[in-house]
Amino acid sequence: MSTFDDRVALITGAGSGIGRAMAVAFAKAGARVVACDIDKESAGRTAEEIGEAAVAVAADISDEASVAALTEAAIGAFGRVDVLCNNAGIMDTMALPADIPVELWERVLRVNLTGTFLVTHAVLPHMLRQGSGAIVNTASEAGIRGGAAGAAYTASKHGVVGLTRSVAWAHAKDGIRCNAILPGPTMTNIATNASFDPTGAARLGPVLALGERLAQPEQMADAALFLASDAASFVNGAIVPVDGGWSAA
Ligand code: NAD
Repeated sequence: MSTFDDRVALITGAGSGIGRAMAVAFAKAGARVVACDIDKESAGRTAEEIGEAAVAVAADISDEASVAALTEAAIGAFGRVDVLCNNAGIMDTMALPADIPVELWERVLRVNLTGTFLVTHAVLPHMLRQGSGAIVNTASEAGIRGGAAGAAYTASKHGVVGLTRSVAWAHAKDGIRCNAILPGPTMTNIATNASFDPTGAARLGPVLALGERLAQPEQMADAALFLASDAASFVNGAIVPVDGGWSAA
């Protein structure tokens, strides 16, 4: 019997990078998977790769109505959600606090922090009804340090760390655990087409250089798999760097 037999995992940002690796890893461990992405085609490709144990749902985590439809689709497909991986996220431009455009600040906070909250808020009632659930949030090194990204991304990921602890504490007695992984630099598509603010990039360069060893998305998925599994049954509110030692520097 596999670890996640009879369990359902909802993964956001499942069309690419870390989310895609998580979807594949949870399916291999026996879960049925709801592969959510704002990009319909890429979510579909992930679900197709997994086969009949997966459904693809196109949803924008930053939009409340879209998140309601996502949760409804997940429950409609499989009847429950045991694991929620709040993984979808976007970068900023590395702009420093003095330079970041307000619209970019609002978009990054909306997707990375409010989006994580909206999906959690929509899925929690189902986990409460079940009396069990495991949430794994994808934060970032930028969730615990000031020099790993621009102001908006850094603030958003610190927010994800705070939300992780809040959910962990508030719902521990309900059988629900909530933990976060903090990926170091990982080979994904997140920086594809990104344009970086030269001042910010130069200021952050020395910190980023410390974490220059690139991870594979599967290494993030393995950590998420552990945190969501019964092997981590007493791990709650943990903020886990998965960075090859970068945060230890
Ligand atoms: P990625 O760009 O390869 O994948 C992210 C996926 O999220 C994409 O498929 C994208 O379409 C989707 N997405 C974006 N906005 C969305 C929205 N509003 N609703 C639903 N889906 C949306 O990037 P990745 O590196 O795999 O990123 C996954 C997570 O890992 C993010 O939260 C990111 O901040 C975090 N992270 C990545 C790194 C890294 O080096 N790659 C480091 C630290 C943290």
